[in-house]
Amino acid sequence: MPADPADEAVELTSELIALDTTNGADTAAPGRERVAAEYVAAKLADAGYAPTYVESGAPGKGNVVARLEGADPGRGALLVHGHLDVVPADPAQWSVHPFSGEVRDGYVWGRGAVDMKGMVAMALATARRFKMDGVVPPRDLVFAFVADEEAGGFAGARWLVDHRPDLFEGATEAIGEVGGFSVTLAGGVRAYLVETAEKGAMWLRLKVSGTAGHGSMVNDDNAIATLAAAVARLQAHRFPVVLTDPVRDFLAGVAEITGVPFDPDDPEAAVARLGHLSRMIGATLRDTANVTRFEAGYKANVVPSVARATVDGRMLPGREAAFEAELAEVLGPEVEREWDTLPPVATTFDGALVDAMAAAIAAEDPGAPLLPYMLSGATDAKSFARLRIRHFGFAPLRLPPDLDFTALFHGVDERVPVDALRFGTRVLDRLLRTS
Ligand SMILES: [Zn+2]
Repeated sequence: MPADPADEAVELTSELIALDTTNGADTAAPGRERVAAEYVAAKLADAGYAPTYVESGAPGKGNVVARLEGADPGRGALLVHGHLDVVPADPAQWSVHPFSGEVRDGYVWGRGAVDMKGMVAMALATARRFKMDGVVPPRDLVFAFVADEEAGGFAGARWLVDHRPDLFEGATEAIGEVGGFSVTLAGGVRAYLVETAEKGAMWLRLKVSGTAGHGSMVNDDNAIATLAAAVARLQAHRFPVVLTDPVRDFLAGVAEITGVPFDPDDPEAAVARLGHLSRMIGATLRDTANVTRFEAGYKANVVPSVARATVDGRMLPGREAAFEAELAEVLGPEVEREWDTLPPVATTFDGALVDAMAAAIAAEDPGAPLLPYMLSGATDAKSFARLRIRHFGFAPLRLPPDLDFTALFHGVDERVPVDALRFGTRVLDRLLRTS
């Protein structure tokens, strides 16, 4: 008799956290995902799957994909995906060791608990249970556990999509991270957020050239000063508020639930009432640009010829060209710009899969509504969008009302409630049996 998948999901979360898969700043270092990918592949094989293990050519960046055949091969497959890598964690700052996976006070603690080994564990436990019980889902399920999401997925989802699209043959819809979790709104009503859109990202490398010289002399062409002034202008600049469909639907949904009316002409007022959530939702009202690195100079008495900075830009769907033009104008002609872009993605909040999500949540948390929202960050959804796969962030967790959940992503003392993992596994089980 296989273990209860809800119990197993808790155990797997803990064990996956204990496998250190840090994806750090040194992009030339070998990947550390392999150990977790091999662990997942062994768990899948043990349940009866024939998983495919793939590395992109970047050593150690392991990916695992397995398919469970559904009743109707004519229907598009549903992709269930999670990334195996995590961001770095400094043990000195944590209450428990970040790679312990310790279960304490009703939580599983450690780096990756919410981003996103918990979801990997829930999907893995569900996949195992289905195979061992001979469950035939309505349509093919593709389970993908991938590397390198925290560095853009270029050795993970992005690489698989570009080089092994056969693994996702026929997939039309996907569920992945940063959605499905509950938020408790004013008045105490619990709602579940479903990610239907993501802002795009533009990582810019800025460069200003000036006149090098002795630090003691008059110099009106100092590259550091010119670049510093340009990034200060950018930092002070406010991009226009643009109310996109997912954000309008989210704020209208909140207004309906809380009874506090929402004025579409003043969405910032509605966002200000959201408590913890205002950090994330507020970032989806407009484009943003933050300077994240600044490099220049090498000696106290030398004016260098070049200064460089990096800017993390995020733009709303439909704003790609306007964002680029506005950046150029604010930074000015002296600043040379090079950039990498990940485009925004968006889908609509409707269809049979959305209905099945609502039903799966309702079965476990009666009366709780679902609300679509836009993520300010970027996930592997952007890679899967290249295959025209409709994407939803839906990693279900019922959370305590006072938990500042979004602060746990990449945060110190990242942890996930044991009960939430158990809840999420039951929701996922129901969803995958019925969608
Ligand atoms: Zn993540």
